[in-house]
Amino acid sequence: MSNEVTEIFGNCVQLSSIGFAVITEDGVVTCANSTFCEMLTISATEAIVGRSLVEHVALHFHSTIADLSQALKCPDAANIQLRLERDSEPLALQIASVDSGRRMLVAAKLPKSAESTSLNIFSHRDPLTGLGNRALLDEIIAVWQPRGSEASSLALIMVDLDRFKQVNDTLGHGAGDTLLKLVAKRIKSASRENDTVVRMGGDEFVVLHTIGLQPIGAESVAKRIIELMSRSFLIDGQQVNIGASVGIAALNFGTDNITDLLKHADLALYEAKAAGRGTFMFFEPALAMRAVERRNLEVDLRRALGLKEFILMYQPQVNMTDGALQGFEALIRWQNPARGFVSPSDFIPLAEEMGEIHAIGEWTLRTACKEAMSWDGNFSVAVNVSPIQFENGRIVDIVRNVLASTGLSPERLELEITEGVLMKNFDNALKQLWAIKSLGVGIAMDDFGTGYSSLSYLNSFPFSKIKIDQSFVRGENSPKSRALVQAIISLGENLEMKTIAEGVETKEQYDQLAAGGCLAAQGYLISRPIPTMAIADFISNLRNQATLKSDKNE
Ligand code: C2E
Ligand code: MG
Ligand code: MG
Repeated sequence: MSNEVTEIFGNCVQLSSIGFAVITEDGVVTCANSTFCEMLTISATEAIVGRSLVEHVALHFHSTIADLSQALKCPDAANIQLRLERDSEPLALQIASVDSGRRMLVAAKLPKSAESTSLNIFSHRDPLTGLGNRALLDEIIAVWQPRGSEASSLALIMVDLDRFKQVNDTLGHGAGDTLLKLVAKRIKSASRENDTVVRMGGDEFVVLHTIGLQPIGAESVAKRIIELMSRSFLIDGQQVNIGASVGIAALNFGTDNITDLLKHADLALYEAKAAGRGTFMFFEPALAMRAVERRNLEVDLRRALGLKEFILMYQPQVNMTDGALQGFEALIRWQNPARGFVSPSDFIPLAEEMGEIHAIGEWTLRTACKEAMSWDGNFSVAVNVSPIQFENGRIVDIVRNVLASTGLSPERLELEITEGVLMKNFDNALKQLWAIKSLGVGIAMDDFGTGYSSLSYLNSFPFSKIKIDQSFVRGENSPKSRALVQAIISLGENLEMKTIAEGVETKEQYDQLAAGGCLAAQGYLISRPIPTMAIADFISNLRNQATLKSDKNE
């Protein structure tokens, strides 16, 4: 054909009331006439050229894309029907091979009565954000085929928002929905044109990165997403700050099987969150091993209470002016026959995640109060309470019930909380703290100075005590730490809250804290945590020392 004829022929195709399109072997549209675009609900030809036909169909048609993908791969001519709505007129697509893998598509509307072979009962779209959904992701993964050099080009980027629940809890679900829509837009803008972005549900999103060099391609998308999520959002005139953690699994980079991509990205996401959020992590096989270990630990932890594997140790707290014993902090210990000693720093976070902390926390409180009743003297007992224990609204009743059943005087009990309690659901936590205080129980702010808004929390509740974190005590010989400790002590004096330093290990630290006006101390210098049956001896030794001292002074 001469050039002129080709041009005329091209114009005829453009004007035709039959839809025509040419796509590559990979399903990417290279050209299409306007009728084809109209039939596929595409506003302009440019909007489809260079994009994947399968993805477009998956998002807009009630049709399984598996059928379409298969038809596109078929070396011979194939026919397929698509439906926009469940009972709309079907669209007949005739697919024919042109040359070297290219396919020509001819599209025509069929009468409504025409039988459909590709009806699908589910949609592929998330109604809130307009992104694809889990079903779309599953289908795209199921039909994805490696091609030549692209064998390593599939990466799954899983995004989970940090602090989304707080927004929902404090600003309401309407604001939460608006936030999710804005997040969807930002994730879309951070990803490449050919990426598939889906909302998995809740505050979890996935970007499927199908073209580009891995793992660099996925890494740069992940970094962009984290950066965009760290910027403030404006919702109903309010500034909202969240963040995102990201887990990535890339085919041929630790993940050999495409069906494992989702699971592996999820494991990587878990690690990213554990690493402190606002960061990304790649899947590596060691993570799968760690997940198995964690599951085993969960099984053991769930059984530990029933098997009576927990005990409490008590660490003395002394008055700094005269060295007199004030009371003890209860510290939980897990002694497992196979694992040996497991540190609370290792199992408390897991117990919190599993929800097991409710039962463990109640046991700790009851045991500490019961054992304190057996001590010779009205010493106080401090019990650590996790932020999670404030979430189900039962903590006030539990404290009331434990006090009544053990007979411990409320003035002898003190709950140690961290600022995490107030960070979760401020109003709800505050209400419960006031209710506990009204029972006569003390509330101490533990690990003070390590959080990022400790000062504002001090202003919100009359804590009975501020516990100066051991990191500052340990740094007592650096001028910065000394200045911080001094500032906390005078803060306590001004707010009429007692101060106690934790982790006091040396005489030098003790003397410096005492000279600075700190009221009480706790640490290895005085005693390591001891079991309840050693308390009687500890008290009598202390009394003997005091007698010796006063005899010497006479
Ligand atoms: P925490 O409440 O700040 O407890 C103080 C930690 O410092 C304890 O560690 C204690 O043994 C340790 N410690 C005390 N004096 C010294 C010292 O002079 N030097 C050093 N290096 N360390 C000292 P432990 O018992 O391993 O507990 C760690 C954390 O686990 C606790 O920090 C607390 O947050 C949590 N925890 C312990 N028992 C419980 C519990 O019954 N319930 C909850 N929710 N958390 C608990
Ligand atoms: Mg504590
Ligand atoms: Mg502490």
